[in-house]
Order: sequence, then structure tokens, then C-alpha cells
Amino acid sequence: MDQPYVQGVLNFGGILKNRILSGKSYSEITDILSESGFSNIQAEKITYWLYRRRIRDFMEMDNLPKTVRLYLNDQFSPGFYEPYQTILSDDQSKKYIFSTQSGFPVEAVYMPDNKRNTVCVSSQAGCRMGCCFCYTGKLGFKGNLEVYEILNQVGSIPEAAKLTHVVFMGMGEPLDNYDNVLKAIDILTAQWGFAFSPRNVTISTIAIKPRLETFIEKTKCNIAISIHSPFEDERSTMIPSAGKYNVREILDLIQAHNWERHRRVTFQYIMIDGFNDTERHLKELIRILKGTRIRINLMSYHPSEGSILQSSPDELQWYFKRQLVYNGISASIRRSRGEDIGAACGLLGSATER
Ligand code: SF4
Repeated sequence: MDQPYVQGVLNFGGILKNRILSGKSYSEITDILSESGFSNIQAEKITYWLYRRRIRDFMEMDNLPKTVRLYLNDQFSPGFYEPYQTILSDDQSKKYIFSTQSGFPVEAVYMPDNKRNTVCVSSQAGCRMGCCFCYTGKLGFKGNLEVYEILNQVGSIPEAAKLTHVVFMGMGEPLDNYDNVLKAIDILTAQWGFAFSPRNVTISTIAIKPRLETFIEKTKCNIAISIHSPFEDERSTMIPSAGKYNVREILDLIQAHNWERHRRVTFQYIMIDGFNDTERHLKELIRILKGTRIRINLMSYHPSEGSILQSSPDELQWYFKRQLVYNGISASIRRSRGEDIGAACGLLGSATER
């Protein structure tokens, strides 16, 4: 189905004047050319200019016949547009705020780290999952992002050319916008697309049924699953959404799958003081993870305005890590990025709201 017609309004500065080409697959672009009477051998050049060079004007494609360029210029917009706000953190990460076609703000975060340059993208405006530790959840659901709106967060930031990793850990639950996220990942990892290695693309999910299973089968990218407690009653308090797998089912699903060597499965564990950071939790984590290939990321909790919860102290996070590693479990503490600009885990949307 075609992307909706954008009438040159909103915050796009008139760039998205017609139908949008970004978000279309190689075969869709081939079809567009054929239907318009052009040779479909131009598709390779078009996808190169679109996804590798992220052009804003089809007339830049100087190795294509002028007739094709004029046709595209008349019928389509490339689909890349600027963020309307950029906020720089003391730790050099940057938050970019874009408008969706419907006028809602969505946030992407660029995080440089030596040779690794990651962009954290949003898959939805707001989120309907209502996780208790997450500001985005408090905003509620405002809409799914179109494929081009997801790709735009990768392709239009000033650091686009030096990006090495893409993580779907921004606003929204990726598996709740399943078709668009899957297509965006196809384009991000295709050789005719952005050509990221699937090993460098990660989605973070609460593990929605049965989409996690099909996602595991259909892609080769990494998966980070929000666990936050090994006990189901507590996990349900933190992640109340219906339709998610429980911890046992997640473990069974992962164990049943034949994982490629370099594909990573991570459990994410936000450590909240006095809630999920006791010896009882540690022992259960060790019990369920021992002998699996699952890695665990321990994360600080970032309280938003009005929250009465606090993050577990650093020493306790390090104690958990040491004990997990001692028991043969691959564990790390994920360094917080962009906390001062509301870009850290669980804070997206807070700056925009203010
Ligand atoms: S943690 Fe993720 S799934 Fe939960 S409310 Fe926040 S954005 Fe949604």
C-alpha cells in the first residue's frame, strides 16, 4: 500500500510534498519503475541514492536518466527530513526530536562511544504498554510510526554516515508496530538498503505473543527482552500489558530456537532499590539463566518527575554482576547515557512534554 499523501504541512518544511519513496523495498521500487514505463534496472541506482546517500532531492541522482529523475521529482519525495530540535548531553550523546506526519514528537538518541556510533530509534509515538518505570508509557499511545519515519531517524541525523549500530530502544514497543518495524529492519540490513549488519541491529521488547517468535524467525538481528524481575507477579507489576510471554515461556522460546553464533539475546534488568535487587532475586536469576546463552544487562533506574522509586546503588549493581559472572552468566552493567537531557532509558518523552 502507498504511503499516505502528505500535503506539505506540519514540521516537514514542505519537503514531503508527494508520495514518499523511503520505506519502499527494492521490489516495490522496481514495480514503480515498470508501471511508469521505465526500465527497472534503474532500481539499483535509486535505492543506492536513497538509502546510502540519503538524498533530499532526486535531481542529485546524476547517473540516472533525467526523465526518471523528473518523474520521481514530480510523483514522490525522498522522505528524509530534519529533526526540529537537537539537545546535546554533557556525555556527548544527542537527542533529536522529529515530528511524525500526524504532528506528534518522537525522539531518537545518538550515542558516540569510541568506534561505535549508535542511534536509538523510536518505533511509535508514545506507547500503550504502560511499564511503570517508563515515562513514554505515561504519555499513552499516539500512533505507530510509518516505515519512512523510522528510517528517517537513522538517515537524517547529521551523524548518519558514521553510524555503526541501530537499536530500537526509543519510544514505543517495536513488536506493537510489527509490520513497519520488520520492513524498516529489512531495509536497514539489506545490501541494497542501508547495509547494516543484522548483528549491529537490536530491538528491545517486552516480548509480545506470538510476535516475538515470528520476529526471531524472520530476522537475524539481536533481541533484548525486558525482564526486570525473575518472578512473574513482580514482572507483571512492572510490565502490566496483556499478551506478553511470561518469564518461563520466554526461556522456553529462546531455548527452543537454533541461534546463530553471533546473534545475541539479552535480558534487560532495571535495578530498583528494595524492589528487585535482593538476594532472592539474584538467586532466581542465577537459577534460570545458568546454562543458557542469554546475557543479562543490569541497568540503573532513571526516575522521572513524581516517581517515588529509586535506582539500586552502584555497589549492589556491581555485586549482582560479580555473582552472575561467577556463576557463568554473561552479565554487564549498562552505562546510562543522556540522563541530563531526558534521553536515558525510561525517560524518552519527558523533555518533549515539558
Ligand atoms: S518500556 Fe518500552 S514497552 Fe514499556 S512503556 Fe516504555 S516504551 Fe513502552
